[in-house]
Amino acid sequence: MARKHREEAASWYEEPEPEICPLCSRPIPEDQRDEHHLVPKCRGGRKTQTLHRICHRQIHALFSESELEKRYSTVDALLEHDEIRKFVAWVARKPAGFYDDTKQSNRRR
Ligand SMILES: [Zn+2]
Ligand SMILES: [Zn+2]
Repeated sequence: MARKHREEAASWYEEPEPEICPLCSRPIPEDQRDEHHLVPKCRGGRKTQTLHRICHRQIHALFSESELEKRYSTVDALLEHDEIRKFVAWVARKPAGFYDDTKQSNRRR
């Protein structure tokens, strides 16, 4: 029983790893996190994936819930879509916290 104390106390203080958005491969700032249901919730989907709010919005702008359910229920399937690839190439050049809300005119107050 002569083991050295491990440095457990120090590990408490480590910064959490930033979540990486699987769509655009950038870290997600806390205030930009959105949970996407890979299969829409109303279709019985439970698995969620954390994405940038802007990436999440793009998915729902392109696909209907039945398309998401039937064809695009994985990140890989989403990334095979041309418009998603174009979007990713575009958004990858933006800062991680970037959120373009010029198109969102019907925001709730
Ligand atoms: Zn979603
Ligand atoms: Zn993203």
